[in-house]
Amino acid sequence: MQTIRLKDNTFTMAITAEELERQVSRVASEMNRDYEGQRPLLLAVLNGAFVFAADLMRRLTVDCEVEFVKLASYQGERSGGQVRDIIGLHTDIEGRQVIVVEDIIDTGLTMLHMVETLKSRHPASVDICTLLLKPGKLQTKLDVRYCAMEVADDFLVGYGLDYDGLGRNYKDIYSIIH
Ligand code: 5GP
Ligand code: MG
Repeated sequence: MQTIRLKDNTFTMAITAEELERQVSRVASEMNRDYEGQRPLLLAVLNGAFVFAADLMRRLTVDCEVEFVKLASYQGERSGGQVRDIIGLHTDIEGRQVIVVEDIIDTGLTMLHMVETLKSRHPASVDICTLLLKPGKLQTKLDVRYCAMEVADDFLVGYGLDYDGLGRNYKDIYSIIH
């Protein structure tokens, strides 16, 4: 399909499933090389990263574990400020080699917060692995060790990424038409 319609918007094909497969395989090869003889813990960030994490992990040949985590937002009772915490992390990460697996890094603020929060639990290392990166939108200094593809600033759906809950099911990635 060259275009798809989700709710009130139309999206056009941007990245094919074949290209995604190539790039995910490349990232997996890099990880297999870098983590040879070790046992990293992949933390896949829900919901968006579940498709990427599944494809990536099936190409890893090093011993590895995976957990699915979520960044929960809620209002602090007194400060009124936004408090965000990681939910779903049931493994003690102290001394572990952690790899955060994300669908997309836009401003980088979500990932920065995730990495900072994880570091307070004293892992041996925290690497960032993202399917997509928007260099034009990045507002933070993030050391992204693994990136499948750099993309333009347009809004994307498919391969796990959603528009208002829809579109995660497509095997290709689509870009919004304004
Ligand atoms: P950041 O904190 O880096 O600005 O935002 C990252 C989050 O915004 C991603 O995890 C994702 O949930 C959402 N996001 C950013 N860009 C896109 C996009 O093009 N498509 C979709 N579906 N979500 C996006
Ligand atoms: Mg996300």
